[in-house]
Amino acid sequence: MSPNSKPTVLIVGAGTFGTSTAYHLSHQYKDPSRITIIDRWDPKAPLQDKQAAAIDTNRIIRTDYESSMYCDLANEAIHPWFWNIAVQGHFHKTGWVVLDKKGGDFGEKVRKTFVERGGDYTRDVDREELEKSEVLKGLCGGAEMGRGYFNPEAGWCDAERATMSFLKVALNNGVQRVTGEVSELLLSKSGVSGVRTKDGKTYTADKIVLAAGAWTSSLLSPIEDALDIPPKDSIETQITAVGRLSAYYTLSESETQNIIDSKMPIVVIGGLVDIIPPSQPNRTVKINDLRTEVVHTVTTKSGRRITAPTQNHQSAVPEKLRAESAQVMQKAMPHFTSTHTPSRWRICFDAVTPTEDWLLTAHPHPSLSNLTIATGGSFHSYKFLPVAGKYVAKVLRGESCGAEKDEAWKWKSGEELGMGGGLEFGRSGRGDAGGRREILGTDGVGDGVADLLLDGAGLLLGDISRLEGDHAAGVELEDGTTIGVEETAGVDTGDDAKLKQPRSDVMKLSERVTVLPAGSALW
Ligand SMILES: Cc1cc2nc3c(=O)[nH]c(=O)nc-3n(C[C@H](O)[C@H](O)[C@H](O)COP(=O)(O)OP(=O)(O)OC[C@H]3O[C@@H](n4cnc5c(N)ncnc54)[C@H](O)[C@@H]3O)c2cc1C
Repeated sequence: MSPNSKPTVLIVGAGTFGTSTAYHLSHQYKDPSRITIIDRWDPKAPLQDKQAAAIDTNRIIRTDYESSMYCDLANEAIHPWFWNIAVQGHFHKTGWVVLDKKGGDFGEKVRKTFVERGGDYTRDVDREELEKSEVLKGLCGGAEMGRGYFNPEAGWCDAERATMSFLKVALNNGVQRVTGEVSELLLSKSGVSGVRTKDGKTYTADKIVLAAGAWTSSLLSPIEDALDIPPKDSIETQITAVGRLSAYYTLSESETQNIIDSKMPIVVIGGLVDIIPPSQPNRTVKINDLRTEVVHTVTTKSGRRITAPTQNHQSAVPEKLRAESAQVMQKAMPHFTSTHTPSRWRICFDAVTPTEDWLLTAHPHPSLSNLTIATGGSFHSYKFLPVAGKYVAKVLRGESCGAEKDEAWKWKSGEELGMGGGLEFGRSGRGDAGGRREILGTDGVGDGVADLLLDGAGLLLGDISRLEGDHAAGVELEDGTTIGVEETAGVDTGDDAKLKQPRSDVMKLSERVTVLPAGSALW
């Protein structure tokens, strides 16, 4: 590197953090060709095949946070959503309503934060007003709810087009994009020197930004293994890859228009769902289930257990999980769900930190100091796409983002991980989530076998009729024990399988279980 040129940068991941970093660096570099961004999805692929949290029919953009730091940051980000030429046409200012759960205080705290900043545009909303919209009739089946408020300064954006638009600006400025699956980070004496892709190519740079979202741990853990970093100091203590479900309901043109004409806002029903209204191009009502969360664990070569998205397509949602999630949606929207069926489902994974703050820092290990980690979206960070990269660029240069942000986004100690944070829906957000369920990846078992759910009693919940005869003989537990699958439990319940020797002790969260393909020897 000549003394006058800026370091070359390789950004792994073109989701929210990666794309934003490429966008900002492309404005800061005289020669943006020194920046490369790599991602596995082809920009021309259909939306459903781009497995990034930053790519979806829509994402909510709002400034409503209890935390004044994230409220300020969201205000910084919302101006570009309104005015940045790159994303014009992708943002829909529908406003949003939050109907707190009974006893919830998210709305109250948000409004307090707004008042302290000097401007509260919100107004009270009650259930009757909401129920005027056909989609929202019978909300929560009449169950008692907490207070509601409407903020007109919020909306949603087309999260495929907007991400691609920011990326396009970066590419037009000269940033290079590579389509390829990173299979490993390359370790050298000076730190992480680059990456190798599945097709055997290598890409190197002076500095690496790891912005791989829910896949961060699976890329970083092998390096941590190689450096003998103990589990207590590993990336897995900072982030967990967690999946949430969304259901997409396709509407007719006229139904879509009726909803648009009724000026239906985004509606969040505390701790249960958020509902995003359609536009004429997408003709989709999307419901996010805020209650059902899943994890999938894999074991690294050194035996370290980490969380990672399953390798099945994100639209292959286990049937049992869909049924559970459908119940959450029915509870929230009994009228709409009795007359509409989702045209598709998705499990979308994000990297979630215990405090729901970002993780934006160099890895603390001295050998990894040229590696900047930019992740921890925690289900609420798409809205920061226009500004996140500005802060990643600061961290890359070794500059402070400001004392409060540095403190929030640093690599945290065990004690700090239990404190404070950016909390998606404040403290009332996740209180009644039903716990994270574990899914069992069935990648490689057979075509069309969706991932399965595990429950505590040694049951495999899923389409076992497919798994049983044709595709799998049983499962292998982490300790090497293999267990055969029982006959299906009967015609009515034929989609669950019992293990021949139920092992409730091992079938718990974080236990590694491998599905054995049909024909495997069990004993
Ligand atoms: C269901 C759901 C709903 C959400 N709703 C909202 C919302 O309404 N509003 C909001 O603000 N936020 C929302 N979020 C959160 C937001 O989408 C995420 O926080 C944000 O996108 C995370 O950004 P990221 O860059 O960390 O990860 P991602 O956006 O997932 O990007 C990571 C990228 O890394 C790439 N990658 C990973 N591994 C490799 C590899 N080995 N080789 C090559 N490429 C790789 C992936 O392909 C991907 O493109 C939601 C998230 C989910 C899951």
